[in-house]
Amino acid sequence: MRFETRCVHTGVYKDDSYNSATTPIYPASTFTYDDIGVNRGYDYTRSGNPTRRALEENIASLEGGTDCRCMSSGMAAITTAMQLFKPGDHVISGDDLYGGTFRLFHNVLSEQGFEFSFVDMTDLDAVRAAVRPETRCVWIETPSNPLMKIIDLAAVAEIARDAGAISIADNTFMSPYFQRPFEHGIDIVVHSMTKYLNGHSDAVGGCVVTQDDEHAERIDYLHNALGTGCSPFDAWLILRGIKTLGPRMEAHQRGAMALAEMLVEHPAVKRIYYAGLSTHPGHELAKRQMSGFGGMLTVDLNGGREAARRLCTKTKLFLMAVSLGGTESLIDYPEGMSHASMTAEARAAAGISESTVRLSVGIEHPDDLIDDVRQALAD
Ligand SMILES: *Cc1c(COP(=O)(O)O)cnc(C)c1O
Repeated sequence: MRFETRCVHTGVYKDDSYNSATTPIYPASTFTYDDIGVNRGYDYTRSGNPTRRALEENIASLEGGTDCRCMSSGMAAITTAMQLFKPGDHVISGDDLYGGTFRLFHNVLSEQGFEFSFVDMTDLDAVRAAVRPETRCVWIETPSNPLMKIIDLAAVAEIARDAGAISIADNTFMSPYFQRPFEHGIDIVVHSMTKYLNGHSDAVGGCVVTQDDEHAERIDYLHNALGTGCSPFDAWLILRGIKTLGPRMEAHQRGAMALAEMLVEHPAVKRIYYAGLSTHPGHELAKRQMSGFGGMLTVDLNGGREAARRLCTKTKLFLMAVSLGGTESLIDYPEGMSHASMTAEARAAAGISESTVRLSVGIEHPDDLIDDVRQALAD
């Protein structure tokens, strides 16, 4: 079955009693045993739940993995995945990570003895130079957030493999519709399901997708031990969202491309970051490893913080909010919102300035979005 068909059907049918056409929500915390040691596959919802299982089967199939565990947030998924490692282990990651991931790595796990190197992963020599004997994990976000750097998944996966480390890709920004990291040699894929997978800004969740039995068993063990699994109701919402993932991603991309083409010509814009533009340094690589460019784009404005503030407050369709990937367009000011949890030094090193604004382009008509941004940029 092709991708869009699997979005609709895979994992969905869990009701043998009535053959319901969609997955039922099983809110039960506990499941009755038929005999001592004999149940019907589930005993307690922290450990496993049929509604959550439907979502896990669906996402594993979309990513081309063999298994998946769904967590209560993207950060819960990342926390669970990081428990594959232990204090003293060294992790190489990008330098413009999702703000919450940076906070977990830099403030929490570093305190516990994990070692991190934050490098510009577009520079493969820098990635190679960061490898140490204790390197156990290479953590990749591509496109990076918020500056949309395109990281070479295959090349970084190979560096990780040569170093004896596990490569993990956060695929939140592209969703499996546009990018499937396993096809490029990545070992484990994580998502914030809150974003494109759910797609309607009404549930928070995360997942860890595996393709190796040893990793799958360990993640299953950890998600039960840590208690990070997502609720059946959230799993149901996200499974419902995924049914339209393909058409939504096409619509997000159509809007982002139209907006990028307008902004690249606009005198208020100093710099635009969108891999769909042929002027983007990662454009050719993006065409090789992604089947589309997605719905996220970032601009640096002329006129500093005040210009950024004007744009963020004057748009009407673009709601000023963190998060991304929903049907409605959002506008974010990384320095004070999504990336406020990074240190000022880390933001500066990553190239996030006081005039940087990030747009999550929704599925509204592109012409309305262009009109909205145009009027907000007009003096
Ligand atoms: C939002 C996000 C996360 C964290 O997910 P939550 O669901 O908010 O916990 C991680 N990585 C990326 C790239 C994100 O955009």
